[in-house]
Amino acid sequence: MTTLFISDLHLDPSRPAITALFLDFVHNEARQAEALYILGDLFEAWIGDDTPSSAADAVAQALRELSQSGVPVYFIRGNRDFLVGNDYAARAGMRILPDPAVIELYGKPVLLQHGDLLCTDDVAYQAFRAQSRNPAFIAQFLAQPLEARVAFAQKARAASQAHQSEMKQGDNAKFETVTDVAPAEVVATFKRYGIDTMIHGHTHRPAIHNLQTGEHRCTRIVLGDWYEQGSVLRVDADGFRLEALQLPQG
Ligand code: MN
Repeated sequence: MTTLFISDLHLDPSRPAITALFLDFVHNEARQAEALYILGDLFEAWIGDDTPSSAADAVAQALRELSQSGVPVYFIRGNRDFLVGNDYAARAGMRILPDPAVIELYGKPVLLQHGDLLCTDDVAYQAFRAQSRNPAFIAQFLAQPLEARVAFAQKARAASQAHQSEMKQGDNAKFETVTDVAPAEVVATFKRYGIDTMIHGHTHRPAIHNLQTGEHRCTRIVLGDWYEQGSVLRVDADGFRLEALQLPQG
């Protein structure tokens, strides 16, 4: 049996082929799996479980059918969809895990997270993250009418894009560093949890990294995004396979 890990689908009405690829994955390959873990940024944007969205409805239905067929579905919120709440999770039949979370995978403890917590060089983003994850901030935001939430989200996205392009223009090498994980934070995280394997997304830099921290040989697996194709990590008792999922031809 195989356990599946995906992240950073960024599902959005502007890329219907990717939504179709994901639904096909849920209806077919995932049905044979032991469990499906979605490590954040399933959706490009999320401003409340009450937002009407036919794509979100289709995703919820597919995931609920999957969990009802006996394959548990777990979700860690990403930076784009951190407002996914208990209502939507219930509709989708998925269980929300904290970020980070430790699971046991084929007898080994493994740390799962979206990955943005590892990007500590982006000080402005970490400040925004701390503010926006405050329960009082979230409650106040979700209490606003839908139109006000849409306007706020557009403003936040414009500010984020301006922040990113400012960093890019300043120094592209620095931009690459700031938007990737901070190596010291990776080492500190391995030590903090006393584990030697972690899986995350967020940076859109799919890879399996092996590193030495003190006496431990550690493995950090980074899931890929679903922009031009899909990306899935397949894990079984024999190991890890990080692979692309191609869009159907034509
Ligand atoms: Mn992300």
